[in-house]
Amino acid sequence: MRILLATRNAKKLVELRRITEAAGLSGVEIVGLADVPGFPEAPEVGATFAANALAKARDAAAATGLPAVADDSGITVDALNGMPGIFSARWSGRHGDDEANLQLLLGQTADVPDERRGAAFVCAAALVTPDAAAAPGFDAEGELPGRTVVHGTWRGTLLRAPRGGNGFGYDPIFAPEGDTRSSAELSAAEKDAASHRGIALRALVGHLQALAGA
Ligand code: IMP
Repeated sequence: MRILLATRNAKKLVELRRITEAAGLSGVEIVGLADVPGFPEAPEVGATFAANALAKARDAAAATGLPAVADDSGITVDALNGMPGIFSARWSGRHGDDEANLQLLLGQTADVPDERRGAAFVCAAALVTPDAAAAPGFDAEGELPGRTVVHGTWRGTLLRAPRGGNGFGYDPIFAPEGDTRSSAELSAAEKDAASHRGIALRALVGHLQALAGA
């Protein structure tokens, strides 16, 4: 069975693919948006990570006829009452400008003392089948077969200057709990084992395997 990983963020796609492939799913072929015909993508207007992840997966499943996985993720900073949150990708006003987003966040938190620099990476990951995408009750609360959303959280602290060249986004200014390195200084395997995206996607694996019928 083909399963679509529905993201245009190339670095996120690498992580999503790596984590799902490491899960050793049998009878599943993972494809990306580059492998399917193009379709119009709606802007992210949801109020929560889960709403955005579900909408992205629903649109992809409806357009392609494939079960689709999408994630919505970001960094929540305690001293900023949980922001940038769902606005993480466009915090500086330019969608996807990782360097500008990171520099703005560093500037905003420059005077925040060490003991109040708590933050977390958060991820909601959704799996939607084409049948669920077409169901009239898709946006309603409660159980809907073929519509699953899971969450992952990775706690840490905000650093004061960027460090490390791995990962993407805010990784160079995030030190995971229990580690003195930034998440951009972790190997891919170390990040996957602990990260919000790793936690969320591993929670989807059973659902993916059930869908593939193994
Ligand atoms: P979206 O989920 O595509 O809307 O964007 C998520 C944004 O959150 C990214 O552009 C990054 O700025 C940030 N983000 C999400 N996950 C990570 C991560 O694992 N490391 C660093 N930044 C992340």
